[in-house]
Amino acid sequence: MTVETIVANITGNPKEDDKIYDKAGEILRAGGLVAFPTETVYGLGADALDVKASAKIYAAKGRPSDNPLIVHIADMDALYKLSSEVPKTALKLAEKFWPGPLTMILKKSDIVPDSITGGLGTVAIRMPSHKVAAELIRKSGVYIAAPSANTSGKPSPTLASHVIKDLSGKIDMIIADDTVDIGVESTIIDLSEEVPAILRPGYITKEMFEEVIGRVTIDPAITDGVKAGVVPRAPGMKYKHYAPKADVTLLEGTFEQFKAYVDAHADQNPSCLCFTGEAEKLGWPCVEYGREGDGADQAKHIFRSLRALDEQGDGVVYARCPKKDGLSMAVYNRLIRAAAFRVIQL
Ligand code: AMP
Ligand code: MG
Repeated sequence: MTVETIVANITGNPKEDDKIYDKAGEILRAGGLVAFPTETVYGLGADALDVKASAKIYAAKGRPSDNPLIVHIADMDALYKLSSEVPKTALKLAEKFWPGPLTMILKKSDIVPDSITGGLGTVAIRMPSHKVAAELIRKSGVYIAAPSANTSGKPSPTLASHVIKDLSGKIDMIIADDTVDIGVESTIIDLSEEVPAILRPGYITKEMFEEVIGRVTIDPAITDGVKAGVVPRAPGMKYKHYAPKADVTLLEGTFEQFKAYVDAHADQNPSCLCFTGEAEKLGWPCVEYGREGDGADQAKHIFRSLRALDEQGDGVVYARCPKKDGLSMAVYNRLIRAAAFRVIQL
């Protein structure tokens, strides 16, 4: 079924923008779908407590129903409504990192429908800092369940044009404001078990957590993928994700080693996903995804670079491997999943 999708541009003029929030709030309260920018990537929102509305998210994205949604809130009161048990660690992290790019997994309360938690007894909660996201939650008066606003399996959207490409005709409204800043999704930390565990790396790093709450672990699925027979703690981790049409392989080594490897595979007609400034030295079709060693710059550009690869069509792509510290870990995690965990040490 095709619906007419309203695309509304945030203007910065409060009177004009209020009309956008009013319309979007109306749609959300009536059980419809609204895509909106956040500080991480664009989200696709529905009323989290309305089972029929959240079912539409799964349908529009083609998302497997066992992959739970993150609930977006605008105040601490909501945290207590959605969770049956708020540990001290959650309060400390909220104080330090909310509003911001942090999602916490907590035991769910009875008002949270099983359909948005994939049947788990826990719920993922985030308080975004982006002013459009925060205003939308506040003005609509609903808790907003929102995964990334892309077709399932495609790179997450960081520009309104990505959302339009994937979801136009499938959702009611897109609020456009290309001020998405970080470029990769929120860090997810599971606080529902004894030792806090990072389930998805993002802007908030292990070191930043440990300064506030002491020891945290990193789920091995982040770097190694989900092993056969293991049930991943974040159901989303078992899906091939962020995947361009091309066959991507990560090459770990120096620029010289990278160039030599790609040149030796000329018969494959390869393309390269490389660091800024390297394209002209490679002599193959290239997409650059950020400055070498600069995790923040790479995070900003990684998803749009994967989309740019798609525009070039399919084929063989060799990618330069980022470092694995700080925000680079988040970039590495997205890239190895785009590469279906194919990594070659040079
Ligand atoms: P996205 O909505 O695209 O940002 O993906 C949300 C991610 O959060 C997915 O990987 C989910 O598996 C994960 N997630 C959401 N809720 C939970 C939960 N209750 N427990 C573990 N992981 C969750
Ligand atoms: Mg997603």
